[in-house]
Amino acid sequence: MSAAPDTRLARRRATTQRRIDELRASAIAAEACAWWADTQPALRESALAVALRERLVRIDRALVRLRTGLYGVCERCGADLDAARLDEEPESECCEGPRCRALSR
Ligand SMILES: [Zn+2]
Repeated sequence: MSAAPDTRLARRRATTQRRIDELRASAIAAEACAWWADTQPALRESALAVALRERLVRIDRALVRLRTGLYGVCERCGADLDAARLDEEPESECCEGPRCRALSR
């Protein structure tokens, strides 16, 4: 049995925050030796950092939905989110169903 959504979101939040901290630490290290380092890996790292920060925002929004009783409901069309999808990505806010895909076009 998988853990309750609030536990899973809290765990995912902690993991995401830790990865952001690690990236920040390695970015500082990369900057310190930038005189010889190739800049490409640093750019890839910052794209990852942006993605992680976006995930953090989505996790916080999911925690708010949990408190307001809207967790697991699609923000766009109001359909119930697939349990498998929430298992994989507990911060999911959209069902990505045909109606929602049509709306995002
Ligand atoms: Zn939807």
